Amino acid sequence: MSDPIAASSPSGAPIRLNKKASQLARRGHPWFYRDDLLPGEVLHATMVRVADVEGRDLGLGFTSTVSKLALRLCGSFAGKDVPGREEFFAERLRRAVDRRAGMLGPMDGARLVHGESDGLPGLIVDRYGPVLVLQVTAPFVDRCLDAIVPFLAQLLNAECVVARNDVSARKLEQLPQEVQLLHGRRITETTIIEHGIKHTIRPFTGHKTGFYLDQRPARALVRDLAKGRAVLDLFSYQGGFSLAALAGGARSALAVDQSEDALQLAQQGAEQNELHGLSIQHSNVFDFLRELREGPARFDLVVLDPPAFAKSRRELDGALRGYRDLNRLALRLLTEHGFLLTCSCSHHVTLPMFEDLVRQAAAGLPFRIALRQRLGAGPDHPAWLSLPESEYLKVLLLQRLD
Ligand code: SAH
Repeated sequence: MSDPIAASSPSGAPIRLNKKASQLARRGHPWFYRDDLLPGEVLHATMVRVADVEGRDLGLGFTSTVSKLALRLCGSFAGKDVPGREEFFAERLRRAVDRRAGMLGPMDGARLVHGESDGLPGLIVDRYGPVLVLQVTAPFVDRCLDAIVPFLAQLLNAECVVARNDVSARKLEQLPQEVQLLHGRRITETTIIEHGIKHTIRPFTGHKTGFYLDQRPARALVRDLAKGRAVLDLFSYQGGFSLAALAGGARSALAVDQSEDALQLAQQGAEQNELHGLSIQHSNVFDFLRELREGPARFDLVVLDPPAFAKSRRELDGALRGYRDLNRLALRLLTEHGFLLTCSCSHHVTLPMFEDLVRQAAAGLPFRIALRQRLGAGPDHPAWLSLPESEYLKVLLLQRLD
């Protein structure tokens, strides 16, 4: 019997893309509007077979009739039909987990499913030891949680599975914004170990799914550079970079954030890891930097990791100005040979745009700035070559040259 919510189309035939969209899909683009599809009925929140304008198979896709994104492709799948959802999710989830072999220790934190890059558009799964945190933004995936959750819980021996569906992207799909316990017992706090450092994770209340797992490579770099340095950790959240710096032998670390809770966790983290030299500053970073500008304080290593200022293309100009001002202020705080690790996690700010604004920020300074290294999210957040938007995190290591 066919699965009623995994039907191809009312007639069972694949959904076809028009000529232009077919070309895009062949090049790997996964997102399509209603106008990109040939006429025909599309049901909401289903999994469908997709074919190009000539009828050649393009694999499977998830539909929506309530948002602009009518179809998200999720790659090829054996056979000609639409698989049952149990079969589909088991295959995709198993592969995604297998790709992260080596990151699945009992106290590891890692992203296990990274949406499109893992052939699962609209699904994020992060693992913090015994806790799995899901974030669902595709209506078909939302309808299939009864297949996804038990499978994942068993595969990974999870004691707690949480949905952090309190993200605004769900509004576009008319899905409720909520945080829910989906499986097991309510674990409100757990600990992961990254590069030998313990980080406290609050899956129900922390930012995103609890932690910024994507900055793992940058935290390792900071630890390696920090020895003997005075470190300034701007937009610190719970001090991930500060703890990494202190563990690497930093002389001091000053964590600045507007969230009091996050700063308290930073302090707890320092105690838990027996690290000395952390100070916290509860401030708006823009105000804090303007105040510092007048004074003599300088730092040997500044980390600048602001939130995504450009949530949409419309906000781009303002965001670029904001990033440029911050980078200029941060560069002025460097001691001789000092490092600035500067980050942008806005999808809409591309790497060339980011480098350009950093260049503008450095113009007119009384010293030269070297670009020492480029980093991105860790390998558990695979970017997809044909989807530049999936490479959202840009990190540059700059150094003051005198
Ligand atoms: N560097 C962190 C992640 C930073 S996320 C890590 O690696 O874990 C962005 C942080 O910026 C959040 O903690 C948020 O509370 C804080 N924030 C946002 N706007 C701010 C502002 N104007 N001033 C100070 N903190 C701000």
